[in-house]
Amino acid sequence: MDKLKELMEFAHDCSKCRLCENRKNVVFGEGNENANVMFIGEGPGAEEDNTGRPFVGKAGQLLTKMIEAIDIKREDVYIANIVKCRPPANRVPFDDEAECCIPYLRKQVSVIRPKIIICLGATASKYIIDKNIRITRDRGKWYEKGNFFMLPTYHPSALLRDPGKKRDAWNDFKSIREKLEDCDIIKLEENMYK
Ligand code: URA
Repeated sequence: MDKLKELMEFAHDCSKCRLCENRKNVVFGEGNENANVMFIGEGPGAEEDNTGRPFVGKAGQLLTKMIEAIDIKREDVYIANIVKCRPPANRVPFDDEAECCIPYLRKQVSVIRPKIIICLGATASKYIIDKNIRITRDRGKWYEKGNFFMLPTYHPSALLRDPGKKRDAWNDFKSIREKLEDCDIIKLEENMYK
């Protein structure tokens, strides 16, 4: 069976942490299983919990616009979160909840093998890149770890709360496009269809 599908079915029955108690849906993640770019957020909000899909509320709509603004289709990337069940009142996930859930995310990354991982906000950056990352100080810097290029940037919810951050976020998104071009990832894909 398809490895991601198998993992998703497993995650749908998960009760490893307290977040399972109030969830309506497990928000496993969605997108292209061969994506070069993966976006990782914090955890589902109300809309995501209702629909079972990541980043479909207001913040998600902004994320989709920003992805499209760098000429990438949302369906060509993969989008997931640190935790797959909604934390009550959208609080930040506790360490034990994140630690229970991250093995699913690691498995997703190991199946999809993206070249670029974008961490949206402090929570994703802390668990994926480095626990000492400070988003205001470190956003926009590229990190190379194993086979991945990783970039911390603002969470789209932060941009909705403080539109003054949008300029920096836009520069970060332009650098995603540049990284894809510099690493010949875009060109390679175009050549595949020649
Ligand atoms: N915020 C997140 O971090 N993830 C979502 O899926 C939606 C909002």
